[in-house]
Amino acid sequence: MVNTFKQLHDECISNNKKIFEVAQENMAKYADITVDEVRNFANKSLFAMKEAINSGMVSKELSLSGMCGQDCYKVQKRYKTERSMLGSVFEHVVEYALATSEENIRMGKIVACPTAGSCAILPSALIAVAQEFNLSEREQLNALITAGEIGRIISMKVSLAGAVAGCQAECGVASSMAAAAVCQLKGGNVSQILNASALALKNLLGLTCDPVAGLVEVPCVKRNPFLAIHAITAAELALCGVESKIPLDEVVDAMEQTGALMSPNLKESSLAGLAATKTALKIKKDVFG
Ligand code: SF4
Repeated sequence: MVNTFKQLHDECISNNKKIFEVAQENMAKYADITVDEVRNFANKSLFAMKEAINSGMVSKELSLSGMCGQDCYKVQKRYKTERSMLGSVFEHVVEYALATSEENIRMGKIVACPTAGSCAILPSALIAVAQEFNLSEREQLNALITAGEIGRIISMKVSLAGAVAGCQAECGVASSMAAAAVCQLKGGNVSQILNASALALKNLLGLTCDPVAGLVEVPCVKRNPFLAIHAITAAELALCGVESKIPLDEVVDAMEQTGALMSPNLKESSLAGLAATKTALKIKKDVFG
């Protein structure tokens, strides 16, 4: 099994294969199943991602705390009459990300990719771009498997939990995975895909996890659309030939070190940051008494 991005890059180049091809073949070998079975499994996730978007787009139900649940509705309402300054891909990414994140806080069915709090970044970017450019289900699956391989290799080195390494390990990694997916969708080569992931992740190092009232709602829900757009920016840059001066393996090392140096107060304990603001403490009191 490939354990580093350097190994992944070299295996792709020496065998003239794409990242998703190497990933699905290795996974099939590792799990003693066929490549078709790997792809069928990924297809179930892709289908569930689309279901989460569809459910979230038509719901206005608030979360139990009442903090979140109607932002997707607000965004859709505006874009029915007033187009986004950044065009239809932007509109769909933001709508789909909020739809999925809001499904998560309603305890609906989502695909953790890599976690529930960051569940909307990859699907919103992948599906909105695929729709805009009429890309097939096969191409979407290739992109999803590419993203999965990025997340898998990062997780070999760092725990993908806000409680261990802050939100850089949740939304940061999700954005890195989404950048790879979008880059694959738009025809990026192996180096461009790894550069896209590195560019996305290194700009999110040090991102704190300070959820208000200890709930995966604020800032989590709205962080998802921001970082889905961030992922597309990284993919666009990589496709233009812009390179990360720091290779992805080393960015992951830096993420691990940064996570270890971060105060436990900023790693999901809700003891500092946004969670410790006057307003957040009032919300916590209102929610929990
Ligand atoms: S702020 Fe914390 S709980 Fe929210 S998505 Fe990020 S890591 Fe998860």
